[in-house]
Amino acid sequence: MAAQQQRKILIAGAGLGGLAAASFLIQDGHQVEVYEQAPRLEEIGAGIQISANAMHALRHLGLEPAIRKVGVHPGAYVFRLHDTGEEIQRFALSAEHERLHGAPYTQMHRADFHAILADKLRSLDPNAIRLGKRVVGFTEDADGVTLQLADGTDARGDVLIGADGLKSAVRRKIAGEVPANYTGDAAWRITVPVERLPQPFLEPVMSVFMGPGGHAVCYYVRSGTIMNFVGLHETDDILEESWTVKLPWERLKADFKGWHPAIQAIIDAADKDQCYRWSLHNRLPIDNWSTARATLLGDSAHATLPYLAQGAVMAIEDGAVLMRALRQESDIAAALQLYQRNRIDRTARIVLQSSENRRRFHLGSEAAIRAEFAKANEGADRNKWLYSYNPMTVPLV
Ligand code: FAD
Repeated sequence: MAAQQQRKILIAGAGLGGLAAASFLIQDGHQVEVYEQAPRLEEIGAGIQISANAMHALRHLGLEPAIRKVGVHPGAYVFRLHDTGEEIQRFALSAEHERLHGAPYTQMHRADFHAILADKLRSLDPNAIRLGKRVVGFTEDADGVTLQLADGTDARGDVLIGADGLKSAVRRKIAGEVPANYTGDAAWRITVPVERLPQPFLEPVMSVFMGPGGHAVCYYVRSGTIMNFVGLHETDDILEESWTVKLPWERLKADFKGWHPAIQAIIDAADKDQCYRWSLHNRLPIDNWSTARATLLGDSAHATLPYLAQGAVMAIEDGAVLMRALRQESDIAAALQLYQRNRIDRTARIVLQSSENRRRFHLGSEAAIRAEFAKANEGADRNKWLYSYNPMTVPLV
């Protein structure tokens, strides 16, 4: 569908959120320029889970076949004890998730997903992405917005979208500094080719091992050929909030000492110089992320802990809703308010529930884990509002 009015839209950041938004907007008739600080487009070696609520929007871009090709649809979500591996709870994903929510639940390698989004954008406009362009600020007036870049150049457009992640320069200008508090958790990430693992190995489900002071998430990516491991470990050793911090393999091994043999096998099979650790920080939701011509999207608007696997999913939902708001309202400021109004409560709810989910994953003792999981399945209601949301059809009011 053609946009009501073609706009020139500037996007800061070519992460998963910025790339998806750029494609939504170009496909809808706008002109888009994406300014990315990195000299090359790339994603880290880790997995990402994309639930039905984002897949509805990715379908709008025609990306479902490419995603199905590289993705894995896990049969279930399985919670286990950290040492024996005993199953505590299981709920169906795969066909059941698709039946309930209208689209699949997919686990992918981030690099594969990023490449799919970048290829889509390039197919719509080969010149949309500008690399090596760090955004340092912006100004706006009645006629437009000017993006300021670290190399001394600038760019002029009608609208600016800050999709520049956790430490967003655009957010700083709109909302000031947003405090980030260390959660007490560090997240290890490694990926391991399946042929290095003993066979038969873990079934193709999303396995969450829960233990004292941490939990470990294991799932397959890249059509089942790679095992993705994220190990959450409570520690006072606060390092950077980034996937680029490499630490010695021996520390990873020590942090999961005594855990189930499957966890040991994954850690033992990792490349010893490829163990990364992210110090997880919490940010409270903010109540305004737009001006008359600039807005935010993804982690810059509503950074979240990963305990519901919804950060990138929300960024994709944002892009779809923003596209629809610009269709619905011809006045830019009104469109940005419509977008924000329709996103702010839902994203805040997800951010707060992700923080709450940390408690569930870090109960400490086996008795506490059993007691928690014996309660009525509190996740069932949440899964309904979380996954059944369709950003392409939800009424914008
Ligand atoms: P980013 O991916 O951070 O992209 C921001 C981009 O902006 C980057 O390319 C960056 O280089 C660029 N940039 C930054 N500053 C500037 C600047 N000043 N100028 C120009 N460019 C700039 N989410 C899920 O949906 N599912 C999951 O399974 C999941 N698992 C996770 C597991 C862990 C352990 C963690 C830590 C996060 C997880 N997430 C998950 C969250 C997800 O990774 C993020 O929410 C998502 O990447 C946010 O996308 P984004 O585009 O907003 O930001």
